[in-house]
Amino acid sequence: MASALTAAERGHTVTLFDAAGEIGGQFNLARRIPGKEEFAETLRYFRTRLAQLGVKIELNRRVGAAELRDFDHVILATGIVPRTPSIPGIDHDKVASYVDIVEGRKVAGRRVAIIGAGGIGFDVAEFLTDADAPDGHASDGRADDPAIAAFRDEWGIDVELTKRGGLRPPHENPPPRQLWLLQRKTEKVGAGLAKTTGWIRRTLLKRRGVSMLSGAEYEKIDDSGLHLKVDGEPLLLDVDTIVICAGQEPRRELVADLEAAGIKAKLIGGADVAVELDAKRAIDQGTRVALEL
Ligand SMILES: Cc1cc2nc3c(=O)[nH]c(=O)nc-3n(C[C@H](O)[C@H](O)[C@H](O)COP(=O)(O)OP(=O)(O)OC[C@H]3O[C@@H](n4cnc5c(N)ncnc54)[C@H](O)[C@@H]3O)c2cc1C
Repeated sequence: MASALTAAERGHTVTLFDAAGEIGGQFNLARRIPGKEEFAETLRYFRTRLAQLGVKIELNRRVGAAELRDFDHVILATGIVPRTPSIPGIDHDKVASYVDIVEGRKVAGRRVAIIGAGGIGFDVAEFLTDADAPDGHASDGRADDPAIAAFRDEWGIDVELTKRGGLRPPHENPPPRQLWLLQRKTEKVGAGLAKTTGWIRRTLLKRRGVSMLSGAEYEKIDDSGLHLKVDGEPLLLDVDTIVICAGQEPRRELVADLEAAGIKAKLIGGADVAVELDAKRAIDQGTRVALEL
């Protein structure tokens, strides 16, 4: 979106293809996470600007090298593929990817284990313990959205400013599920989160009774749940759903096709570096690449 916009601003004729039925990629997942509703506003900005600049948008088009042959420049922003860890039983019905859960294709049960406690693991934990939207909500990002009102209630934010400091007692509803947030690393869960906001996210999950375990070694998944070892001690989590948030790999299947067809392409965003979730880096890189065309 950022590349298309900048290229169009500079006078290029731009076509933006997306395999999905809407533009935005992972922003369409991020905007569903309670507290991240503003991602919907970024999407609104891009949709408006791309329309103003006359960028041709082709949705539901998973393109291959053949469709890209006639363009002077090709920019590949194909994003990522969620990583699937090799745990025996990973194909069990109890297992769901974070994409299925956040998009609502699968509804998590009452007891849930999340494998992977990075940024997405935390997002999914917040999403699944949100008492006001137990199966998630797609916010439209507007100030009168009930999800935003619920967020203010939970944190005791008084927007009327009738209370001292704009703070009133937080209102806590019991979380709709019991959750375990697990990581293989032995460091404290959430240690890698952003410095200024990580403590808020850990506090929120603690208040919602989420058990955070580090040093987990996953043994297998079966009808009785998730079998693991923590600090060498065997543990069975009798859960209904196991959500995989175990990182991402760049989605690059088009690269080889393009090379074989002799088409040069620039790789940006998650398709370039998938180890971190960083929309700012993706937008910055997309903009700079378009400035160089
Ligand atoms: C739940 C969640 C929360 C997040 N929260 C944050 C956050 O708080 N802060 C932050 O900075 N980042 C966050 N991110 C990460 C951020 O959304 C990504 O860094 C960003 O979206 C990467 O953009 P991208 O353009 O590289 O790819 P993507 O957003 O992955 O988009 C790739 C697009 O390419 C399309 N595509 C793939 N292959 C083809 C093909 N062959 N033909 C046509 N189209 C194709 C896909 O349909 C998709 O729309 C979050 C991500 C998730 C999932």
